[in-house]
Amino acid sequence: MSRILIVGAGLTGSLCAYLLRKEVTSKLQLVVWDKARGAGGRMSTSRCPSDPKCSVDLGAQYITVTPDYAQKHKLFHNELVTKGILKPLSAVVEGMVMKDGSYNLVTPHGVSSIVKHYLSQSGADVYYERHVTQINLRDGKWEVSCKSGSPEAFDVVVLTMPVPQILQLEGDIGKLINENQRQQLETVSYSSRYALGLFYEAGTQIDIPWAAKYITDNPCIRFISIDNKKRNVESSDIGPSIVVHTSVPFGIEHLEQEKEDVQQVILKQLDAILPNLPKPKDIKCQKWRYSQVTEAFPDCPGQITLHSKPFLLCGGDGFTHSNFDGCTESALRIVETLASSLQNLR
Ligand code: FAD
Repeated sequence: MSRILIVGAGLTGSLCAYLLRKEVTSKLQLVVWDKARGAGGRMSTSRCPSDPKCSVDLGAQYITVTPDYAQKHKLFHNELVTKGILKPLSAVVEGMVMKDGSYNLVTPHGVSSIVKHYLSQSGADVYYERHVTQINLRDGKWEVSCKSGSPEAFDVVVLTMPVPQILQLEGDIGKLINENQRQQLETVSYSSRYALGLFYEAGTQIDIPWAAKYITDNPCIRFISIDNKKRNVESSDIGPSIVVHTSVPFGIEHLEQEKEDVQQVILKQLDAILPNLPKPKDIKCQKWRYSQVTEAFPDCPGQITLHSKPFLLCGGDGFTHSNFDGCTESALRIVETLASSLQNLR
């Protein structure tokens, strides 16, 4: 049976799997590997260790729909709205600047629910804690190795992780990337920032008039959100949660520091901004080394082909831009590129 491997269970990888399912027959096996313990990538939803019902979105916060993409990706937006995965943002966000005609959607069940929806609809075999380290060409197939476990053979491989993580892969892939491609891949850059998730006991009152706020006069904190209020899920049974994003200059300055130390600095700044916050029962600190794309691959092609027989492609927001529609664009370009070769694999 022919096998397709998608590396990365973020939005690009999951949407690729979903779109490929429409192209492939049951004679093709779709496999998704991710190094993390769950789905989402930078659209991750983190659960409170002592109360899984209490969750917080540490990465993407809203899906912003611009007038152009409202038309172009209408089917994708409509499907998610119809299924209740996306809802209009109705809560107050202070300091938000919206371009003419754009609007925001939120995810009542957490932003990873988008990725989980696409993965479940794709029927792919999804495996977590598979950290790909090497890709070699053996007898016309890709032999893909992970940090643990035996290497496996695939007919097609699609890489959807941030570009610097693609460039870290070892094996034949290093020789297959031509000099021009390598130079262009090396121009792709990302901002870095920290995110803090604060989880509270059910029934805790958070007395703040807004659901989220952009902070402009603090050296460390750029954005605070009462996450459940922003997602429009306020319930007396589920504890509230707060997410704090640092500014990019702060993220870059503290990138190589211990997370525990950075957490203390962020908490101190948060106390200066909101001195009356109750004490959380759990805290999670996330370092986003590759947060949002600051410079995309030249001309934003959506994907590039590293090798065509057999196919080895890479995509993700590094090849478009960092948001829902950027990932959708990339997934569409990947599937379009693979479509003709899939006819031969059937
Ligand atoms: P990723 O989500 O990064 O997925 C790549 C996956 O590959 C990851 O799951 C990773 O674990 C896995 N991986 C990496 N290396 C390996 C390996 N060697 N082996 C196996 N697996 C590997 N977008 C919006 O639309 N709205 C927002 O409000 C918004 N806010 C954001 C705020 C923050 C703080 C951040 C970080 C991002 C935000 N974004 C937002 C951007 C959005 O989250 C990203 O554009 C999108 O999630 C990228 O998806 P992706 O699938 O291309 O990459």
